Amino acid sequence: MNTMANLRDRFWENMPLKDMNEKEWEALCDGCGKCCLNKIEDADTGEVFLTRVACRLLDDKTCRCTQYNIRKKLVPECINLNADNIEKHAYWMPQTCAYRLLYTGESLPEWHPLLSGTNQTVHDANVSAQGITVSEVDVRDDEWEQLIIDEPGVEVAREGQD
Ligand code: SF4
Ligand code: SF4
Repeated sequence: MNTMANLRDRFWENMPLKDMNEKEWEALCDGCGKCCLNKIEDADTGEVFLTRVACRLLDDKTCRCTQYNIRKKLVPECINLNADNIEKHAYWMPQTCAYRLLYTGESLPEWHPLLSGTNQTVHDANVSAQGITVSEVDVRDDEWEQLIIDEPGVEVAREGQD
């Protein structure tokens, strides 16, 4: 849950990502859970395909990591996104991801919790991974291709941006 404590007023509007404090950085995450879905990257074209095969630690209902504090121990390949490495990772991040949006100069959409005041708006706008995932522990690697999906909520990503 986001808390407004230690967040500067509308910090997401003009502040560079690198100048945000830890609370502000964390508050940017809308809790959509889509970065925890596995992707397939075409080695020749670099094109990234999203699947609905979720990391074994993702809770399909809350779209949150069930072991966030110790996730790197359990899933070493989990990315710890920060202002220094976002340039390297932005290309595969979900198109509605707040970090990607701000990194590319876009503004936050109206369903973002920082604007709506509740994480529920992300699910209500059908932008999250809620209810669509299968766990990677239940799927063979060679089945991933059959589970490619269009990213949920891309069509509403820029509706009513702040
Ligand atoms: S895609 Fe971005 S906004 Fe959504 S859960 Fe991941 S880091 Fe947070
Ligand atoms: S370890 Fe947690 S934060 Fe990392 S990809 Fe898996 S569910 Fe997401």
